[in-house]
Amino acid sequence: MKNKKAVVVFSGGQDSTTCLLWAVQQFDEVHAVTFDYGQRHKEEIRCATEIAQTLHIPHKILDMRLINQLTENALTRDDIPLTEGDGETLPSSFVPGRNQLFLSFAAVYAHSIGADHLITGVSQTDYSGYPDCRDTFIKSLNVSLNLAMEKDFVIHTPLMWLDKAATWKLADDLGGLDFVRSKTLTCYNGIRADGCGECPACVLRKNGLDTYLEGARA
Ligand SMILES: [Zn+2]
Repeated sequence: MKNKKAVVVFSGGQDSTTCLLWAVQQFDEVHAVTFDYGQRHKEEIRCATEIAQTLHIPHKILDMRLINQLTENALTRDDIPLTEGDGETLPSSFVPGRNQLFLSFAAVYAHSIGADHLITGVSQTDYSGYPDCRDTFIKSLNVSLNLAMEKDFVIHTPLMWLDKAATWKLADDLGGLDFVRSKTLTCYNGIRADGCGECPACVLRKNGLDTYLEGARA
């Protein structure tokens, strides 16, 4: 690889924190970028900041609240209830093109600091209907970003084919199971670690952890 400098798209949740731990093992220099788009819980930004500080990762927070001018959804608006997708309709947390936007901004940032590698925790396995989490899209965007900026970026997606249980296994393999479990925030109600236990994000996270721990014990 030409340069071993990487930018991780980082929210402070289980997936992106696992990606951050992965990146620290893969690259000489790792930077994290977090998008502030008026999340329901400022706790998410605080959580990401604390994790980056703990791991001594340079951390950039970008103001992306402009996406609220484009779309209304349950992640950014308190008056829209969270509903799950049913296979035909998307979950109410959907912001169209969010990953595409975030990755594109992360690439501009990577360009500015001379990093060739981008890491995102998207997963086609658990993609909940978000089309810009899929492998084909990421490969397409990689080509587009390289054409747009005359660069040789490589977008890494360590979680692309993993389910939640396998993502916990990866954290464990990286020596970070307890770290990810105790420090991250996935819960839609803004509660760190094991969360509220009831929202869709907590249920998905807990089911994955239980499956992994049962398998690990067997
Ligand atoms: Zn929860």
